[in-house]
Amino acid sequence: MISLHGLTKEFPGGVRAVDALDLEIADGEFFALLGPSGCGKTTLLRTVAGLETATSGRIVIGSADVTALPPGRRDVAMVFQDYALFPHMDVTANIAYPLRVKKVGRAEREAKAAETAARLGLAELLARRPGQLSGGQQQRVALARAIACHPAAFLFDEPLSNLDARMRLEARTFLKRLQRELAVTTVFVTHDQGEALAMADRIAVMSAGRIRQVGTPSEVFQRPADTFVASFIGSTPMNLLPGVVKDGTVRVAGAVLPAPPSLADGEEVVYGLRPEYMDLSATAREDGFAGRVSVVENLGTSFLVTVEDDDHLVQAVVPEDAEPSPGDAAWAVPRHARALFYRDG
Ligand code: ADP
Ligand code: MG
Repeated sequence: MISLHGLTKEFPGGVRAVDALDLEIADGEFFALLGPSGCGKTTLLRTVAGLETATSGRIVIGSADVTALPPGRRDVAMVFQDYALFPHMDVTANIAYPLRVKKVGRAEREAKAAETAARLGLAELLARRPGQLSGGQQQRVALARAIACHPAAFLFDEPLSNLDARMRLEARTFLKRLQRELAVTTVFVTHDQGEALAMADRIAVMSAGRIRQVGTPSEVFQRPADTFVASFIGSTPMNLLPGVVKDGTVRVAGAVLPAPPSLADGEEVVYGLRPEYMDLSATAREDGFAGRVSVVENLGTSFLVTVEDDDHLVQAVVPEDAEPSPGDAAWAVPRHARALFYRDG
């Protein structure tokens, strides 16, 4: 278990990379820290690992307060974005390095390295140096090095970001299966919302050193807490449009939509709907956004369709057998039960 209490990291010059952050990560959990570049993910991970000193706040790992302990005494293993392998050492020596630091005897650490390497499909590569390995193989060596010393937690800083798109998908599945088997608490940092949704048990969405929302992948996808999370999560951008409540309806870009009872008459809101929950109609609908199809993008088994008129733009994902043509008149009709209403826009 990892818990952070009011954790703050301020760099000289006043940059608050991590800002009074509270977080509880459960034992054995695969936890993703998701956020845009520069939001403080790496700093948070490095502070938990002890590579940065916290400005204030506390870090508890298991039952021990480790805030003041050096990295070597925190019982965590970090995998860096660039893997940080030793170029002059072969695979065995790289994997065994933390064991050597811990003064484990040569025979035992080489046996341990070989066993871990085999588990990660590296058995044939033990004598190679990092420069003789592909990106995916280097990434597995970095993982093996983290696993070999049986830490209480893994800290992964964008470990898949240097792999090409195809390898990254394979590595996702591989890493998730491995984490399940080892059942070791894992904090996985990524800026890729798809990666976080696919892999994590829970996700914390970060922005500017703070956490906007913590939840399961389906919670943050279905119920984003604010417009930042709403626009950050999802493989196609969420429709977000200003609206105003009137007579039990919400008027949004010319459409008259059902209003939930929680909204008061006259209130200004931001209306949110995922393109996946927007249908297209070729006939006029009062509860739809009227416009013309401007762009049709092929997503493989579906199309992302942009419908525009002079003052609004909405997007819908439509099935592959319903491909519209640019210039067609269209009404984008929300599945009303899926609508989200925000007051933070
Ligand atoms: P992320 O990993 O989410 O991209 P970082 O943790 O690397 O974000 O950076 C968060 C913020 O802290 C950024 O504004 C960055 O410029 C700043 N920062 C990171 N490391 C340092 C440092 N060593 N000194 C000063 N500022 C830093
Ligand atoms: Mg980073």
